[in-house]
Amino acid sequence: MRQATVYIDRNAIQYNLNRVKQLATNSKIVSMVKANAYGHGIKDCLAALNASDAFGVACLQEGLEIRELGFQQPVTLIEGVFSEDEMPIAIKQKFECMIHHQQQFEWLIKHKQAYINQGLKVWVKLNSGMNRLGFKNPEIIEVIKTLKSEGFTCVLAMHFANADVDHPLNEQQKQQFLQVKQACDPVLASCCNSAAIYKWPELHFDYVRPG
Ligand SMILES: *Cc1c(COP(=O)(O)O)cnc(C)c1O
Repeated sequence: MRQATVYIDRNAIQYNLNRVKQLATNSKIVSMVKANAYGHGIKDCLAALNASDAFGVACLQEGLEIRELGFQQPVTLIEGVFSEDEMPIAIKQKFECMIHHQQQFEWLIKHKQAYINQGLKVWVKLNSGMNRLGFKNPEIIEVIKTLKSEGFTCVLAMHFANADVDHPLNEQQKQQFLQVKQACDPVLASCCNSAAIYKWPELHFDYVRPG
């Protein structure tokens, strides 16, 4: 078998980040570096993306790696914690959690005071068609309203299943997101991955999540 070599250009990554900054001037940028920065090598990518407002990773372990490498930016765990005992660690490290099922909601409520005291927001995932993770509409509206009444600051979040192509689901997902956002108003919002950042400037909202 032939050996394949991949060259990662730090300048190109930095250029891409600046491009996103130009496109989404009013949004914070959560650079997605899950799965070892998509297999690019987390350390060099973090250095290239140091000017990001935050980093997004899939699990606690990946978040801890960011801290071990010395990066102190806010981190969002895009699938939240996987068990209750991860919660105090996430809070201590200032990792914001995404919640997408009832159990995570309950863990969050249990650790409410510590979580809020750390100034952490909670990301609440709308399942609007990707059908992997998330609360459905209208259940999610109740979830967010309850969290708000408990004193949490919420970020309504969604992931487009097919943002990179013209697909009928895109419009459907968009409409659902806007409807839930309005029903939860005021609420912070985030729904754009890389392709969506380019295609739908009207959906940049508070945080964009380029990968
Ligand atoms: C991976 C991921 C992104 C980035 O997606 P790209 O298509 O690589 O831009 C954004 N948001 C979430 C929740 C993700 O898991």
